[in-house]
Amino acid sequence: MQTKQLLQKPETMQKSVVEMADAHCHLSILSDPQIIRDAVLYGVSTIITDGVDTPSNIKTLEVADNKNVFGAVGVDPEHALAIDESSFDREMEFNIGLARRNADRIVAIGEIGLDYSIGGGPRNIVRQKKVFGRFIDLAEELRLPVSVHARNAIGDVLDFLVEREAKRVHLHFFEGGVEEARVALKHGYLISVPPIESSKRKRVIAMMPIESLMAESDSPVVGQNPKSVEKPIRYIAGIKRMPFEQVAAALVANTKRFFDVNTKGSVKMMRY
Ligand SMILES: [Zn+2]
Repeated sequence: MQTKQLLQKPETMQKSVVEMADAHCHLSILSDPQIIRDAVLYGVSTIITDGVDTPSNIKTLEVADNKNVFGAVGVDPEHALAIDESSFDREMEFNIGLARRNADRIVAIGEIGLDYSIGGGPRNIVRQKKVFGRFIDLAEELRLPVSVHARNAIGDVLDFLVEREAKRVHLHFFEGGVEEARVALKHGYLISVPPIESSKRKRVIAMMPIESLMAESDSPVVGQNPKSVEKPIRYIAGIKRMPFEQVAAALVANTKRFFDVNTKGSVKMMRY
């Protein structure tokens, strides 16, 4: 009797687990398999992990199991600026080629975007826009969505995406206000909420329909690990006055739909 109860325990435990989705993190810097297993057991069934440069893109593809962990390949603004001028074309071509060769097993192009907090003046902005534009075109070519970073640059990022007619857009760590969120909503973009609260973010969450929201840990940069996604989900639930379980389920559905994870369900060999 006692043995039977013990055997049944894991099943009972799993039933009480609330399924959650983490729309943005960086497992390339957090690739301890134990952390992933732990997050999945905790309920984070769907984890989107983004690369930011050549080594992290390779690592991202190695970590993605296309069961719980799904990868995105991109070059973010910080790393776009870090590439040496002499190797710029080669680095870009390598990462574009990596995404093309693995297009059937990645779920997005990301992380890409603009970051005006880095500084460096107009020349840096030209470089950032060049890289951002190339990857938006690549997403279009590969029919993949984009996961976009915008820091101190949300106005330019929105203009850029609209100009280039980007169709499936995820604005990660959305830091815009209600006005910018309305522009995002108008174009069918989704925004994701990080584990950091602010009165501006609260107003945006209150305004956005739940169908246009996702939650993210942005771990290990902001959250500790993908389990940290529970915090923004609870935050959204509080603002929307909805049960946590209901919000978690809605955001899982949004994340799976947006990244179309069901069509990427099988583990395929990575192509270097
Ligand atoms: Zn990120």
